[in-house]
Amino acid sequence: MKEAKKSIVVMKFGGSSVKDVVCLKRAASRVVSTKKAGHRVVVVVSAPGDMTDELIERAHAITDNPDGRELDMLMATGEQISIALLCLSIKTFGIDAISLTGPQAGIWATDVHTKARITKIFPHKVVKGLNTGKVVVVAGFQGLNPDEEIVTLGRGGSDLTAVALAAALNSEVCDIYTDVDGVYTTDPRIVPDAQKINQISYDAMLELAGAGSQVMQARSIEVAKKFGVKIHVKTSLKNKPGTRIMDEKGMEEPVVSGVAYDKNEARLSVRDVPDQPGVAAKIFSALAKESVNVDMIIQSTAQNGLNEISFTVSRQDLKKALSVLEPIRHKLGAKEVFFDDRVAKLSIIGVGMRSHSGVAAKMFSVLADAGINIEMISTSEIKVACVIKESEGQKAVKLVHKAFGLGK
Ligand code: ADP
Ligand code: ASP
Ligand code: MG
Repeated sequence: MKEAKKSIVVMKFGGSSVKDVVCLKRAASRVVSTKKAGHRVVVVVSAPGDMTDELIERAHAITDNPDGRELDMLMATGEQISIALLCLSIKTFGIDAISLTGPQAGIWATDVHTKARITKIFPHKVVKGLNTGKVVVVAGFQGLNPDEEIVTLGRGGSDLTAVALAAALNSEVCDIYTDVDGVYTTDPRIVPDAQKINQISYDAMLELAGAGSQVMQARSIEVAKKFGVKIHVKTSLKNKPGTRIMDEKGMEEPVVSGVAYDKNEARLSVRDVPDQPGVAAKIFSALAKESVNVDMIIQSTAQNGLNEISFTVSRQDLKKALSVLEPIRHKLGAKEVFFDDRVAKLSIIGVGMRSHSGVAAKMFSVLADAGINIEMISTSEIKVACVIKESEGQKAVKLVHKAFGLGK
């Protein structure tokens, strides 16, 4: 068979799967088996172990508010270590491999430092490597912005690199190798009797990921859905099937497929703002301009011509949000900006919810019976999310997971 006719497989290894020599050798041997099975192989890797966290800590040891460009320059080094070490490891099996950074792989992105989005991929160097029979190993999590600066793609962004490359290369499968057997009904680190889900739709996975299930980055699922990339999440430790993420058609999904928990949340309230047109627009436009993503939003009904606007942001954006809000509060004549950075978001997700009533009521009752106060609620066709105190989060996850019959 000619090289060009073979199917392309994209394999992504997360940080835990490349954290040391033993893991690198294991990952390399998986890559080599796939190559020997007759595929053209593109590999995407994350930084080893917790290196990205450590690099961020090093920047924060110097300054509270590190410059985005330099932070990206620093964070991108982690993935670069992995590509070189994995290539060296693959070569020891007698298979040729070449490492490429995100920019070398032709990954272009928007200019927002630390959370850029991929805009286009020109993978000619990747294709050239494949055409010469090499395994091509690409650094995840990074790209080049229109100013030709290195940017990173948001935490967990290697998943996005893998899926976007799979789409750009018309690859049939994107295999995500991680430290769990697949996607579970909830985080198995919190609820030990969580169960592995064999198949899940893009929509349900998107909500699970968006609600904080770290196993897949939410934006990677958006891209997979858009381009029809089939994802298989599995462990790099054993050879066994994991979770397939695919089109919903023909799939039987339970009413609730999973419970997500995100403690990376902070709640902000702008108090006593005048009840006038344009107030919400001013607040949220200013936050958007600084790339602060807002999640849940609640506006109380007005009393004496004043109301309160509350919303959540991720904890790492809290400082930025507060500094954006202060001048606006002043301009609007609002009383104060209150914040609580000890809240968490608990969500139930399931495509089956669309046709079942009473799902939200059941979740609220479980929390009420346990004396857990709900501070904010948001719902969609396939999700109910509640903001609660972080200190009650783990207990809440366990209770809700059990109430919907998701345990073993
Ligand atoms: P990688 O380094 O391979 O990208 P991550 O740490 O980003 O891995 O994601 C895997 C982790 O996600 C697991 O160790 C698990 O604790 C956590 N996780 C959270 N929610 C879920 C879930 N619903 N199913 C599986 N894993 C989950
Ligand atoms: N190393 C990056 C992170 O820790 C990207 C990734 O692991 O996907 O967020
Ligand atoms: Mg990850």
